Amino acid sequence: MTPRAATVLSVIVLAPLCVGTSQAGAASGSQASAVPSSGDSQAITITRAGSQPSMKAPAERFTGSARIDYLFRPNEPARVSGGSVTFEPGARTAWHSHPLGQTLIVTSGVGRVQRWGDPVDEIRPGDIVWIPPGQKHWHGASLTNGMSHIAISERLDGKTVDWMEKVTDEQYGAPLHPGPAAAAAPDAAPAGQPTRAQQLMGDFAPKLAELTDDVLYADVWARPGLSQRDRSLVTVSALVALNRPAQLRSHLRKARANGVTEEELSEAITHLAFYAGWPSAVTAVTVAREVLAADASPGGQEAAPREQE
Ligand code: MN
Repeated sequence: MTPRAATVLSVIVLAPLCVGTSQAGAASGSQASAVPSSGDSQAITITRAGSQPSMKAPAERFTGSARIDYLFRPNEPARVSGGSVTFEPGARTAWHSHPLGQTLIVTSGVGRVQRWGDPVDEIRPGDIVWIPPGQKHWHGASLTNGMSHIAISERLDGKTVDWMEKVTDEQYGAPLHPGPAAAAAPDAAPAGQPTRAQQLMGDFAPKLAELTDDVLYADVWARPGLSQRDRSLVTVSALVALNRPAQLRSHLRKARANGVTEEELSEAITHLAFYAGWPSAVTAVTVAREVLAADASPGGQEAAPREQE
């Protein structure tokens, strides 16, 4: 693909700039079928299926192989445009943001989407994803399955996207978000089953079990002011500093599920040694090594015993 063609692709599909002279020439072939032969600009236009060729996603904006099918450009004074993007397994966009946000409609396969600082979410056909304005994010296929979505966005001051750096393999392969219910209440029990807090202390301190479930997990952990990932990092840091290995064990697992990497946990513990003391940090290293080794072994978390929260 020529550099110019790559620019046109990113322009019309993910960043439909005002169609100036440079883009109009390249797009004229695809537009021809949409213009009524009568020349009546107010007539309904039908862009026929197959009239616009698929295009390869530009390598400078995507990792892996992705195909773009341009769907529609803004018809002045409308500002909305849309394209269909098909990602092969492992393919994804670079980090980027949209000045007026973006809606993704997943049409096939299994995909991933992530806002900067949040865990990676899995998306499937029928899911509709709203990316709020200005939020740094990426989207793409899963590691093992391709994914197609329709991307719709509105332009502001002539652009719909601001591109940033590529998504690294480590960022892309981070553990998945455990899901809204599990994230808000990490120890939620199936309906009718006692919660983890009820099992641990419900017989001896039922009010404490109730506060743990209803206030700590259903309210505080669910508040939007901090991401689940940041809540996990704060919680792990406090438990390391307080030298609470029993509670640290389960919160290290929760932190991994919320997108904190093993390297970040190692770095946090090293950092905390200077504030919380060497013995607390060494205890935390011992616990973290056990927990992370158990999670990496066949059977993963399920094979490891659960400790008190
Ligand atoms: Mn986007």
